[in-house]
Amino acid sequence: MSARGAELADRLAAVRARIEDARVAAGRDDTPTLVVVTKFFPGSDVDLLTGLGVTDIGESRDQEAAEKVAGLADREALTVHFIGQVQTNKAGSVARYADVVHSLDRAKLARALDRGAERAGRTLDVLLQVGLDTTGERGGVAPEDLASLADTVAGLEHLRLRGVMAVAPREGAPRPAFTRLRALAEGLRAEHPEATWVSAGMSADLEDAVAEGATHLRVGSAILGTRESHR
Ligand SMILES: *Cc1c(COP(=O)(O)O)cnc(C)c1O
Repeated sequence: MSARGAELADRLAAVRARIEDARVAAGRDDTPTLVVVTKFFPGSDVDLLTGLGVTDIGESRDQEAAEKVAGLADREALTVHFIGQVQTNKAGSVARYADVVHSLDRAKLARALDRGAERAGRTLDVLLQVGLDTTGERGGVAPEDLASLADTVAGLEHLRLRGVMAVAPREGAPRPAFTRLRALAEGLRAEHPEATWVSAGMSADLEDAVAEGATHLRVGSAILGTRESHR
């Protein structure tokens, strides 16, 4: 195996062990899905990860993602998650290659993704990104607007409402934010029983997310290494 392949294998095993420890500590029977966030890293890394049994990758910039996904050795082996903010005029592009969009945060974007999915002859799984900080700097719909956005999405033919996503606020401990997300997810599920996914937790806070019932973890740097400057 290449040096990079061995490095990715080691880091991936360490992250899987962290998830397993957290799962046991939380008394959960189910193992959350690990979405390996490959933004800023080349398609060759994704191919290595596929060889290591990774089934889900996350990307956050449209142009980079479109090119990378088109060049993968085994696209069919992967579920591609789009986790970054989506400009409305990029929705048509994202709908062509993403299987899941985690960052749906407004009705206008929902309609644009629905049109894009229809044109591409696809159905997209979508999560509603909820803003858990008061500043709104990390994006997402305000908690009080979640229910109405969910109703909009549920009415669109080419989107499948799967649940919620959040990024912990920069300030403060992540655990209370994930507790809040869990409560919002339960509220959503009362109206939309099929919306069972909770995407939460990154390299630094995945244990807190597992403890609060996350079904999908988005882990980048702990597996791929630190990214250059801008995020
Ligand atoms: C980059 C990114 C991640 C991964 O973050 P790490 O700290 O590298 O694990 C997760 N979620 C979102 C929305 C991201 O943009």
